[in-house]
Amino acid sequence: MSSTYTVVNPATEEQVTEIHLATLEETDAVIERAADAYPAWRDLPPGERATLLRRFACLVDEHVDELAELEVRNSGHTWGNATWEARNVRDVLNYYSAAPERLTGHQIPVAGGINVTFHEPLGVVGIIVPWNFPMPIAGWGFGPALAAGNTVVLKPAELTPLTAIRLGELGLEAGLPEGVFSVIPGKGSVVGERFVTHPAVRKVCFTGSTEVGKKIMAGAADQVKRVTLELGGKSANIVFADADLAKAAASAPSAVFDNAGQDCCARSRILVERSAYDEFVSLLEPAVKGVKVLDPSDRTSEMGPLISAAQKTTVQGFVDEVEVAFSGSVPDGPGFWFAPTVVLAGDTQQRIWREEVFGPVVAVMPFDSEEEAIRLANDTEFGLSGSIFTHDLGRALRVSRGVEAGNLSVNSHSSVRYWTPFGGFKQSGLGRELGPDAPHSFTDVKNVFFSND
Ligand code: NDP
Repeated sequence: MSSTYTVVNPATEEQVTEIHLATLEETDAVIERAADAYPAWRDLPPGERATLLRRFACLVDEHVDELAELEVRNSGHTWGNATWEARNVRDVLNYYSAAPERLTGHQIPVAGGINVTFHEPLGVVGIIVPWNFPMPIAGWGFGPALAAGNTVVLKPAELTPLTAIRLGELGLEAGLPEGVFSVIPGKGSVVGERFVTHPAVRKVCFTGSTEVGKKIMAGAADQVKRVTLELGGKSANIVFADADLAKAAASAPSAVFDNAGQDCCARSRILVERSAYDEFVSLLEPAVKGVKVLDPSDRTSEMGPLISAAQKTTVQGFVDEVEVAFSGSVPDGPGFWFAPTVVLAGDTQQRIWREEVFGPVVAVMPFDSEEEAIRLANDTEFGLSGSIFTHDLGRALRVSRGVEAGNLSVNSHSSVRYWTPFGGFKQSGLGRELGPDAPHSFTDVKNVFFSND
């Protein structure tokens, strides 16, 4: 049955546009077109595939402002974030445009002939993205997948389809043949689930909640379909007493309140060595109160609204269970605003300490030893990201080896560089995106022995 979705600007609650949501039949038709387009795309000389991806990157570059403006209106992202996100798609396409000519296998010594491996593309890849970072997360999938010779069907989140649709148009304008890169706006329960069940889709790349990720993994088992999962997080920001406390406190708000806390890498638990705890909290308070929460159409805004009224209710539910130590401010008027909020946590069983809030809320807790810091950081089902602040190199090494997480930063909150691998330990995911090996994850290895005889 045909249906539509009204896109709403989360900063103003104004309607932006209406989007047609794909039916099951329409989804099947697009997947089948992608399957038809696959052999020619796979067999295109690598240099030609590379040229088309570079042209796509150039077009994204020419449309950075347009894409960013769309994201500001659709997702409430700040201008600074939205332009970074559009440029990230450009950079990812440029980076992986070098892959088609470099997707080499091995020649392995054997008796009686030669043995060669080939990295063969899979076919149609289905990419399901969430609403928190619509552009980059899509690009981290379709960039390397296309470079490796697959065709791609992309399902944006229902709430945030606009930039994905525009990227689909730019791909066509760049000369990607019909069916090579298709965007299908629609519901997770229709389009997303069909990616999992349709036999022509050979791999599903999913970013979103752990709950849906598990469902996709279970569904994919039926056809032994390949999956990459980027799921939730509850990352720790560990601050030792010897660290530059002013730097750690000044940067802690952006590490968790960036994108209004709707970030799988958000450092939403701050662990501070007890001897520095009071000083750190007193430095954190002005930093949190100073976060400029403004309509993201104001280019000085440092934090925008939450994505939806429903997300605001969810976040409020977490905060209602605890005592707030201090918080920032939000604009008056309409919009799904939530103030940057700090909780001084005492109980590791509180929901706010254990679950992904996906809002601008951080819990701070003291620790007494290096071992306790590692134990507390690891006391979670997640393992995506985290930071360690210390000037002691040996400790930085020990703690970064001890924390069970896929992406750690020492004396920094940086999580994502497109040329380094990104992904989670434990229930934060399966597989890695980005980095030099990402195109390989969109291939299967074929091993061939050629006899001398
Ligand atoms: P979901 O995991 O439900 O959605 C992510 C994507 O998956 C969307 O495109 C969604 O489509 C799609 N989807 C939903 N159900 C299915 C399904 N059964 N099969 C295939 N695809 C599906 O996240 P929500 O948007 O509901 O957010 C809920 C919570 O999840 C957040 O509060 C946050 O805690 C967490 N989350 C974590 C993210 C992360 O990066 N770690 C990202 C997003 C959310 P549709 O838009 O139609 O629902």
